Amino acid sequence: MSNEQRTTPLIQVKNLYKIFGPKDKQVLKKVKAGESKDAILAETGHTVGLSDINLDIYPGEIFVIMGLSGSGKSTLIRHFNRLIEPTEGSIIIEDTDVMTLNAKQLQDFRRHKMSMVFQRFGLMPHRTVLQNVGYGLHVQGAKPAQWQQQAQQWLTTVGLAGYEQSYPANLSGGQQQRVGLARALCTNAEVLLMDEAFSALDPLIRSEMQDQLIELQQKLHKTIIFITHDLDEALRLGDRIAILRDGKLIQQGKPVDILLNPADDYVEAFVKDVNRARALTVATVMKPQCVRISAETIGEAVAEMRNATDALLETVIPETLDSDHPLPVINEDGDVTGRLSRSTLAEALSDQIKEPQD
Ligand code: ADP
Ligand code: MG
Repeated sequence: MSNEQRTTPLIQVKNLYKIFGPKDKQVLKKVKAGESKDAILAETGHTVGLSDINLDIYPGEIFVIMGLSGSGKSTLIRHFNRLIEPTEGSIIIEDTDVMTLNAKQLQDFRRHKMSMVFQRFGLMPHRTVLQNVGYGLHVQGAKPAQWQQQAQQWLTTVGLAGYEQSYPANLSGGQQQRVGLARALCTNAEVLLMDEAFSALDPLIRSEMQDQLIELQQKLHKTIIFITHDLDEALRLGDRIAILRDGKLIQQGKPVDILLNPADDYVEAFVKDVNRARALTVATVMKPQCVRISAETIGEAVAEMRNATDALLETVIPETLDSDHPLPVINEDGDVTGRLSRSTLAEALSDQIKEPQD
């Protein structure tokens, strides 16, 4: 992501609190005084949904919100399109505080700015696949020829050409979620909100959906807020990851930051389950190239290793550990972009790196 993009967040969450219950404002004082979620529930019957959340989300990134069940992920994402009103704090989207929108503005905002992909697909059972996908444009007032053409195009993009006239019930879970994705994309909204969108799918289908989302994102550059309770998924998709626990933001950072420097035991527990070698790419751990290597050497290196920078570490461990010299890393064009040494690799795999190179 360029520096320019990073300077202006698309979405800012500021000092956001959400307490569920009739006396939320009163209970807020206890939250601010530092009482725990459990203590507050026992004492007042109120549930702390979110406590002092501050986040900046940048255009074009996949921002993952992760945490165990009940940690506040859905509560947070529902604030973005104001399905939930905060107890205190603000959500600012491109200079507009969503709390200041009137009913009409909010409707426009939900239709044009953000679209949501739900865990249980949320398709309308009595409408065809094509009608489901085109529904957003249809209610925006698009003519049939227009929404049908757009819906058709998005169905093709997600690999469902030929299913236009089918009904949701006749599709598999994976196919239904592709329809859900096509529907969200069809409104042309800049922001996609995906709340455990892949969690109901079988592992293989889920992995295919992740691949498809990554591939789409390379073309579309949407801002995607993706919720999951699965660290593997978070690491795979996230440009940055925020971790929630009991409504509090425990850690946020790039996947590699989370993996190499978990902020506390809660994050550590997630990280323990992940195969480091599977999650860290060569690009993450290599040092910037500093030695000029002759063409001949590059040629040999290409032949020997084919270490494209997106190669996963586990595939290069044998070569790297066998070599006394740092091995050059090449990109798709065959340019040397860095070097990977045995010690760098060992550090990455053993938790030692504090400042990994981008
Ligand atoms: P997650 O999506 O991470 O599983 P949620 O955001 O759904 O978590 O819930 C966070 C906390 O808020 C939980 O303790 C949950 O029970 C509570 N909660 C969520 N929605 C409501 C509601 N409408 N009324 C009362 N409590 C709620
Ligand atoms: Mg949830």
